[in-house]
Amino acid sequence: MSKIILAADVGGTTCKLGIFDEQLERITKWSIDTDTSDSSGYNLLKNIYDSFVAQVANLNYNFDDVLGVGIGVPGPVEFETGTVNGAVNLYWQGNVNVRDIFQQFVDCPVYVDNDANVAALGEKHKGAGEGAEDVVAITLGTGLGGGIISNGEIVHGHNGSGAEIGHFRVDHDQRFNCNCGKSGCIETVASATGVVNLVNFYYPKLTFKSSILELIKNNKVTAKAVFDAAKAGDQFCIFITERVANYIAYLCSIISVTSNPKYIVLGGGMSTAGLILIENIKTEYHNLTFTPAQHNTEIVQAQLGNDAGITGAAGLIYTYVLEKDGVK
Ligand SMILES: [Zn+2]
Repeated sequence: MSKIILAADVGGTTCKLGIFDEQLERITKWSIDTDTSDSSGYNLLKNIYDSFVAQVANLNYNFDDVLGVGIGVPGPVEFETGTVNGAVNLYWQGNVNVRDIFQQFVDCPVYVDNDANVAALGEKHKGAGEGAEDVVAITLGTGLGGGIISNGEIVHGHNGSGAEIGHFRVDHDQRFNCNCGKSGCIETVASATGVVNLVNFYYPKLTFKSSILELIKNNKVTAKAVFDAAKAGDQFCIFITERVANYIAYLCSIISVTSNPKYIVLGGGMSTAGLILIENIKTEYHNLTFTPAQHNTEIVQAQLGNDAGITGAAGLIYTYVLEKDGVK
């Protein structure tokens, strides 16, 4: 029988788990609840291991067939050691060495990385960036995250905070506070939270009627409502969509001159909520950039959806164990 890769994408409420073959084709996937009962991370990781044990046996494999375990975690990760430096969504206190804990259960290699980085790696291997060695993924969700793949490898930077593009300052008026403690970060104007920030900022200045006025007044406005209304021709929502798209296009143009990716992949809930957003980003990107090299960077929608995380987690083993060993 062929060898397998175990993959975990740890989230605040569920852990998505998967088993992949050596070619990174998915054999099966499932999920378990995230155990946040202890701040050391041990219980959560033990539950993941136990679930792997059951599923590996179900498929008539055994642990000798496992090439490695890849784990994506929502927090800053020191890639060399597999240490997570504070994962607030998991209620982990201080540093948690995920690799050391998991290595108590298994003999095979264990690789750990930030969830946005593994999502980018997933899209590079099996999604919208397939076939390219230089891919940047931007996740547009409640926040704004990113992962940069350069020459086939994740850019971690000297202390693991490479591709923390959500905290790139684009709003020089610094109108909104960011979770990072600063203000003016792109996350405050171009994430789902950012859309709501802009709506609340601009609507008192509104001089025409908007179809989402009731939602705004009742504090119920969402990014999806804004993009839907923009699609239907609502002038205020078109204005907001253009503002958001301009910020993201500006970010894309900076990324493009920095690492010259083949693809910039837009994922996350907001990218599916509004195709109108992506079209606006493409248009503005072309207005902002002028060199042929930059125009060769394609802005595309992510393809893997919620599976990007487990695919990329398995991709850690594919990239850093199999390819490095010259097996591939
Ligand atoms: Zn910030």
